[in-house]
Amino acid sequence: MNRRSLLKFLLAGIALPTSLVANAAQSLRRIRVSRVEGQATVLLDLSGPVVSNSFTLDSPPRLVLDLKQTVMSAPLEGLTFEGTAIRSIRSGTTPTGDLRIVLDLTEPGVHTALRPLPNLSHTLQLQVAAPLRSAVASTQANRTPERSGARVNRDLLVVIDAGHGGKDPGALGAKGEQEKRVALQIATLLAKRVNAQKGYKARLVRSDDVFIPLRKRAELAQRLKADLFVSVHADAAPRLTASGASVFALSQGGASSSMARWMAARENGADAVGGGLAVKLREDDPMVAGVLLDMSMNATISTSLDLGHQVLTQLGTVSRLHQPRVEQAGFAVLKSAAVPSILVETGFISNVNDCQRLHDTRQQRKIAEAIFAGVEGYFRQRPPADSLIATLG
Ligand SMILES: [Zn+2]
Repeated sequence: MNRRSLLKFLLAGIALPTSLVANAAQSLRRIRVSRVEGQATVLLDLSGPVVSNSFTLDSPPRLVLDLKQTVMSAPLEGLTFEGTAIRSIRSGTTPTGDLRIVLDLTEPGVHTALRPLPNLSHTLQLQVAAPLRSAVASTQANRTPERSGARVNRDLLVVIDAGHGGKDPGALGAKGEQEKRVALQIATLLAKRVNAQKGYKARLVRSDDVFIPLRKRAELAQRLKADLFVSVHADAAPRLTASGASVFALSQGGASSSMARWMAARENGADAVGGGLAVKLREDDPMVAGVLLDMSMNATISTSLDLGHQVLTQLGTVSRLHQPRVEQAGFAVLKSAAVPSILVETGFISNVNDCQRLHDTRQQRKIAEAIFAGVEGYFRQRPPADSLIATLG
């Protein structure tokens, strides 16, 4: 922004009627920062909806974020940006009552992206990444042979998890139909579809009727460094009339609806089937503690929500939807810190119509096709830089 536009910006602010200023004040309650490989994700938790605007300025390089009619009630002390393109953070209030957050940057040309987190109420996500180095510079900086281009043009890996299995049949239909069987059939069709696509590879968590603890499923995706984890289900609903498909992502806090809470409680009980003790997610458990404390989980969840949204949209073309938006709850099977993870309820086995459709091979194929269309649509828009699909254009 040059001097003239900055002036215009300030004048626009002054022209704001004072009645508005008095009215709609929100507060910035908390700022959280996560750092992953030079990229910083700054999450701003607001008390309500806020109009925001961000822009960068040079000499010195800085990013300015204006939050209309917002008061500051988040502490800035203790926020660290080491290893990222952010040097420091400060804040001030404009004469018109807007909150201005300034991030001092380490260099010009830093990439920034600001957007609201879908489904999380009034949280803004600001991503800040250092500019890409030229090929020469990066070769000089990184001479380790196995790290330079070892995984270039790689296939995207989708880990597909058929829910339940073995001693855990999952939910049951009116005539004893088992969720674990339907889930495996659809998961298998999905894996076939993924493998048929150039630039993609699928890996099934289970390819037969075996019991695998929830934690192991998430760990597999994490260990294989999957690009996506999809858990396929066909649960029962509390009401027999409930029908349609839904998509879930992890929530670190509360559930987004009572249905989502109920569903997560049910799924998380799967490990207890067969006489084991109910799984209690303890914060001193290394994996769970890591997940709960690691703020990079927020970025993973945000990707999961975007991806889930595309999958849900596609499912809507072949099936009724139970929920028009991606729901969130504390699903244990979705707790891979670094792998975007979604749980797809393909329909309710407890609903007579859904149950019939879920057992129809043609419908199963349509569902698998729709899930993949959502996944493919997402990665086409945002292909990982080292993936083959990034080069296909
Ligand atoms: Zn299930």
